[in-house]
Amino acid sequence: MHYDDSRRLYEQAIDLLAGGVSSQFRIHEPAGFPLFFDRAKGSYMWDVDGNKYIDYVMGLGPNLFGHAPEFIIRRVNEEMRRGFVFSAQHTGELEVTEIALSMIPISDALVRFASSGTEINQLAIRLMRGFTGRSKYIKFEGHYHGWADNVSYSIHPSLNQVGSPLAPEPVPESAGIDPKTAENILVCEWNDLDKIKQVFKRHPDEIAGVLMEPILGNSNTILPSSGYLEGVKSLCHREGALLCFDEVITGFRVAKGGAQELLGVTPDLATYAKSLAGGFPIAMLVGRREIMDLIGNGMVVHGGSFNSNLVSIAAAHASLQHIQNAGLGFYSELNDRGLRLMEGLRRNAAELGSNLHVQGPGSFFSISFTDRPEILNWRDHALNCDESKYLRFAKKLMEKGVRLSSIGRVHMASTHTEEDLKYTIEAAREVLQALV
Ligand code: PLP
Repeated sequence: MHYDDSRRLYEQAIDLLAGGVSSQFRIHEPAGFPLFFDRAKGSYMWDVDGNKYIDYVMGLGPNLFGHAPEFIIRRVNEEMRRGFVFSAQHTGELEVTEIALSMIPISDALVRFASSGTEINQLAIRLMRGFTGRSKYIKFEGHYHGWADNVSYSIHPSLNQVGSPLAPEPVPESAGIDPKTAENILVCEWNDLDKIKQVFKRHPDEIAGVLMEPILGNSNTILPSSGYLEGVKSLCHREGALLCFDEVITGFRVAKGGAQELLGVTPDLATYAKSLAGGFPIAMLVGRREIMDLIGNGMVVHGGSFNSNLVSIAAAHASLQHIQNAGLGFYSELNDRGLRLMEGLRRNAAELGSNLHVQGPGSFFSISFTDRPEILNWRDHALNCDESKYLRFAKKLMEKGVRLSSIGRVHMASTHTEEDLKYTIEAAREVLQALV
């Protein structure tokens, strides 16, 4: 396998695009530089050198039904003839909202659409502040809510900057962030109820809300400890704060009602994006009516030319109808396929004495190399997982035609076949043999 054409195009790209890419998170491809891809269909991608891959990146999550599913192509094609962007009302958004609300546990809810996960989390934060009249919000280490200033803290901070786990410092992730945004962010270690209780205690009547990934997809895919989400929810309500789940990864992926259905805890607000439209750009905020009314009456302002554009709404409509028509089997099969892949990887590791570790709910999960039986939060991951070993593993798998993300998160699609799993497990075994 060679990457000559990709390499030549990347050299050209460096002269045209800042860093040769359109998102900084694409710089660190396991191949060692960002590859150029030609096309993708179902579970597979082909790069410009003609190499074929079983893809587990799946656009970092959105391609829930694999790449370019025919049922979405058909619906979007039909809809496009009516127009692309009205920046005005159309019936499609009502239909999508009705289906989405029938799937999501938050009851008596209202919806707003936007175009990306970053954007929709900004609306959620503004709404939490507008509703409570308070300025501060709690953000957890290792959680990612987009690239905007007020969430770009302590995502994957360097361990020598983070401070004590009892009172972590907000560590900026980029130059150019308004330093004043740090004043209203209370960074906390996730998955430990005592830690968040302490934060509320230190800031009585100051905290508008808590924003979290209910399953921590951006740091080793960590499930919350038993009782943690329930504890945070009752703490928020006791203290007059709101709870918002960032379901940008988990929404429509782990269950039809997302993490809140899977884990049995309903927040006040939840944000969605990636899997909502099978690969088209869309985002959605869902919240209890009395809170969302503040957006409705214009007190909390929200706009966007592309919001609920016809094309993305048509793709969302086709996606949600597909999930509805597939019935309960859709998620049990998706999760089961992921669990079987995890099991195969675990078996490889046990037989070869490798410290490869997998954890997650199934429809997505993370691969890391650690001697710990379980990773519980970001610091645990940063201290105990060997990222360079993972990247060597992913690079070697890429050379065998299996595409993993640079961050270790694996996204299952409904198109992954038994053969795909079998091939992946066997390829991983060969790579691990050479790694250990
Ligand atoms: N929230 C979570 C949990 C994410 O994983 C991401 C992106 O990976 C975002 C928000 C930001 O979404 P987007 O990339 O659509 O802006």
